[in-house]
Amino acid sequence: MSVLVVGSVALDTVKTPFGEVKEALGGSATYFALSANHYTPVSMVAVVGSDFPKKHLDIFKKKRIDTRGLEIGKGKTFRWKGYYEYDLNQAHTQKTELNVFRAFRPKIPKEYEKIEYIFLANIDPQLQLSVLKQIKRPKLVLCDTMNYWIEKKRRELLLILKEVDILLLNDSEARELTGKHSLFKASRRILRMGPRITIIKKGEHGALMWSENFHFAIPGYPLEDINDPTGAGDSFAGGFLGFLAYTGDLSEENMRKAMVFGSVMASYNVEDFSIKRLERLKDKEIIERYREFKRMTHFEDLNKGAIE
Ligand code: AMP
Repeated sequence: MSVLVVGSVALDTVKTPFGEVKEALGGSATYFALSANHYTPVSMVAVVGSDFPKKHLDIFKKKRIDTRGLEIGKGKTFRWKGYYEYDLNQAHTQKTELNVFRAFRPKIPKEYEKIEYIFLANIDPQLQLSVLKQIKRPKLVLCDTMNYWIEKKRRELLLILKEVDILLLNDSEARELTGKHSLFKASRRILRMGPRITIIKKGEHGALMWSENFHFAIPGYPLEDINDPTGAGDSFAGGFLGFLAYTGDLSEENMRKAMVFGSVMASYNVEDFSIKRLERLKDKEIIERYREFKRMTHFEDLNKGAIE
């Protein structure tokens, strides 16, 4: 079963305490696609400019990402410039050049209309709504957002929340959206806004999943090398939704596994700059780290009378 992503394809200039890249391949749709394609075919709707390097298009081609929905617009590609200090959970944006992204109106090709698993990456909630109007019968819609939309387009954001199954956001965004500090209370409130599941990402500290009936927590993978956290959230989304689409199973048990696959993909992505680690990632490594997560979080129940 394939997945559809609508989001940004970008040229990123990023500096961290461990190095920097200039005009490297980035964007939310890029990270998602290069992560989800380890599980299931991916179709992409985004826009780039006429200056977008062919070598990047070749990466999508090599990874068999369906780019029939990737428009090549007149003008320059979207660019993002940012840096991180030692707190890698906090991205500092220096410059956002929208360029062709400014006039982006996602058009879903006919061939994509019946795709059942959708990732609405972090774009204007009004555009996210327009995507859903063009899709026939999605089985699962996962939606990302950010503080900018929470502050500037709250009304539209609340409308899209009524239409999506799962909202993915980080802890500070969940607090800002709901006005609650407790993530327990924040997630309760988000569930009342529409989604039946909320996933709250906590950067290197892992992620939480909440529904009316259950919740699940996964720690961050203790990495030896973190170089560039850009795209961690979108790589998480790719592993999570890619696995759900591949299995077609939306049970609680399977969602827990999907959270692990999301965490595996995010943890690999941050090991290197831009998409370099995802590009060379092997399926075998995914399975190894999945099992490592299992070992790392496993503990036995108490024997009867053990602490009495
Ligand atoms: P993440 O680290 O998961 O939040 O995603 C980082 C990616 O988001 C980068 O590769 C950027 O190119 C992209 N990005 C940054 N700002 C925006 C924006 N305003 N709209 C769309 N994509 C963006």
